[in-house]
Amino acid sequence: MDERRNIPATDRVLSEPRIAAAVERFGRQRVKRVVHDAQRRARAREIPADQVITETAANLPTATGGLRPVLNATGVLLHTNLGRAPLSDAAVLALREAAGTCDVELDLHTGQRGRRGASVTRGLLDAVPEAESAHVVGNGAAALTLAATALAAGREIMLARGEMVEIGAGFRIPDLLCSTGARLREVGTTNRVELADYRAAIGAETGFVLKVHPSNFVISGFTSSVAPGELGALDAPLVVDIGSGLLEPHPRLPDEPDARGALRAGADLVVASCDKLLGGPQAGLLLGKAAIVDKLRKHPLARALRPDKLTLAALHATLCGPPTPTARALECSQRELRARAERIAESARAAGVAATTADTTAGIGGGGAPGVKLPSAAVVLPEHCSERLRHNVPPVLTRVERGNCLVDLFALEPERDAELTETIRRSAPATDSAVGGASCT
Ligand SMILES: *Cc1c(COP(=O)(O)O)cnc(C)c1O
Repeated sequence: MDERRNIPATDRVLSEPRIAAAVERFGRQRVKRVVHDAQRRARAREIPADQVITETAANLPTATGGLRPVLNATGVLLHTNLGRAPLSDAAVLALREAAGTCDVELDLHTGQRGRRGASVTRGLLDAVPEAESAHVVGNGAAALTLAATALAAGREIMLARGEMVEIGAGFRIPDLLCSTGARLREVGTTNRVELADYRAAIGAETGFVLKVHPSNFVISGFTSSVAPGELGALDAPLVVDIGSGLLEPHPRLPDEPDARGALRAGADLVVASCDKLLGGPQAGLLLGKAAIVDKLRKHPLARALRPDKLTLAALHATLCGPPTPTARALECSQRELRARAERIAESARAAGVAATTADTTAGIGGGGAPGVKLPSAAVVLPEHCSERLRHNVPPVLTRVERGNCLVDLFALEPERDAELTETIRRSAPATDSAVGGASCT
């Protein structure tokens, strides 16, 4: 029988709940074009007839202008390519509320113009009592840019050679610093630096001493670095880039620097990202001495780096709301992860997918805590499922290890398990569904 006779009719495809929802949102004409395209591909035998609905779903217009939600089953908690930290429900709600007109720069008591994002600043100072003042910019790189420009343009920033970090594809902190008109004064060697190196280099040209957390690599062996506690005693302002935005120490990440600790140790200014371990929206934090933060806030460049109201709203809810998905993932035990993996695998097997489970190790990712391995669990599928799952709707990003596709649950919110299970079950071909243990293609 010609398989093409099984190509579903347009109305049948349009009545699929996922596709019907898109019709509601984007109109029948736009969605119909996508259906017709999938049917045409099936007639040309480019895809199997039973894939017309999946193919249509994969190509539906999206409300987000092309950014599609993805399930993060990579076991990498903060995946820069996947938008780093997922926002909490409270933060999402705050985004919606701020999307209209809101009091972002108005004092409702007096009716006068107020300081932009004053509630966020209060939330930050409550969370980090060691800071005298706080300012928020667009991201961590913007925070460094503002600090370098306002405190060291035309002068020197002192930085240990072992802390000349490349954060992600081509983003090099030394290059960013130099682009502001500051000069780098490198001290020490790749593996070692002493307090005496800093002391010898300090002079009239010093804008500030910078300590950067190597957030995506570790140097081991014959090494030494100087802690903020000692650098704080030098005769120059100390700026500490902690990277991940932990506000206080985390018991599972003992080597990860935190804002409170850095300020207590003597930092005059702490710089951090908000969408890494802080678990919030993309933004950059500047926390520290009032005189310094005020100088940054008043610098002309501050206006170019300011965050929008949506970011401020989400950040406030992140700081003052319930634990973020990132914080919850860090609380999750391997026992809980295993139980989730078992439930998903069992349901997948019932649909004919060859699924087992395994213990795995997850990591934080480029967002911080380099080298830290966290016990996790995964659903194990045949390797080729990895590509198939990535093409699904929603796409599921997995990792391939030793010939297996690992669906690691560490970075995935438990609320998404049902959706993940459904996606894995759907990846079993209809004809195989009666055969236990069939593979997922
Ligand atoms: C991530 C990171 C940055 C850059 O922050 P973005 O928010 O990505 O701009 C700067 N410094 C360190 C140490 C980092 O880990």
